[in-house]
Amino acid sequence: MTIKLGLVGVGKIARDQHLPAIAADPAFELVAVASRNARVDGVDNFHDVAAMLAARPDIQAVSICTPPQGRDAIARHVLESGRHVMLEKPPGATLTEVHDLEDLARASGLTLMTTWHSRHAVAVEPAREWLSSRRITRAHINWREDVRRWHPGQDWVWEPGGLGVFDPGINALSIATHILPSALVLQEATLNVPANRQSPVAAELRFDSAGTAVTASFDWLQTGPQTWDIEVETETGSLTLRDGGATLLLDGENVPMPKNEEYPSLYARFAELVAARALDVDVAPLRLAADAFLRGHRVLVDEFHW
Ligand code: NAP
Repeated sequence: MTIKLGLVGVGKIARDQHLPAIAADPAFELVAVASRNARVDGVDNFHDVAAMLAARPDIQAVSICTPPQGRDAIARHVLESGRHVMLEKPPGATLTEVHDLEDLARASGLTLMTTWHSRHAVAVEPAREWLSSRRITRAHINWREDVRRWHPGQDWVWEPGGLGVFDPGINALSIATHILPSALVLQEATLNVPANRQSPVAAELRFDSAGTAVTASFDWLQTGPQTWDIEVETETGSLTLRDGGATLLLDGENVPMPKNEEYPSLYARFAELVAARALDVDVAPLRLAADAFLRGHRVLVDEFHW
């Protein structure tokens, strides 16, 4: 049975990934969107989620693609209207928001999915399997991209709750928390915050994972080639994930992978969850980001201007 879907927040990620993935998935039919300034051809268009759900009682599930600040109220309205919810990453601006949504979804018998698209990168599951039987001796995350390329003009990323460089960095944390056999516990963080902004443009992090040091280096000003790498040394060989989890090297040798299809895989998972009225809520990556904001040293650096 096709799931009639609404989408909220038609911005960069909705257009780049969600709309094509939904269009290609026979499990879903996009019937409406809600966005204050954008429209999508061929479906009903509304200014806000309340108007959309009131006008289209046939909508069964809603995909929320707005920035994290304010997503909570949208998701709450959708659940209270009896519809299933899929949340873009990060699932909220605070941990409590997400816990409360989980309680509401559970009490209502509705699906809530906190998506972590990078976990659906094609090499992530093989990496998790390879590491599951090994002892790790060191791991390092190197996540460097160009904010002007991936978030052009998006001031919300610099506001409280926008996470700054943790907006991409949380993708690395979502992979690390999935593939490393032991939980990560933050030990130390340094956050470089532009003097005219609220959120960091770079960060250095050190975690403990069952006695092993795991380090991370995030930077949002890297132009030219972009770096989304995780390197793991074990007692019996090394593993490298490159390209955000699309490429796998074992002991330096490339392991051939099928096509990388993160968002089609996310929607396939959402369809399964809706069919089972099940929840998939994981806040581990957001918790580590929150710990870095709680525990980190702040260093003021040059102002950031687009
Ligand atoms: P975006 O381009 O700014 O789009 C978000 C859309 O949400 C806006 O266009 C806006 O559309 C709507 N919106 C509703 N309330 C808003 C508010 N208070 N401030 C700003 N926009 C508001 O952002 P995006 O890049 O698509 O990111 C959205 C989410 O997807 C974020 O959580 C981000 O982490 C995640 N994501 C982004 C990327 C990426 O490469 N950019 C990749 C993966 C995941 P209207 O003005 O029409 O309402």
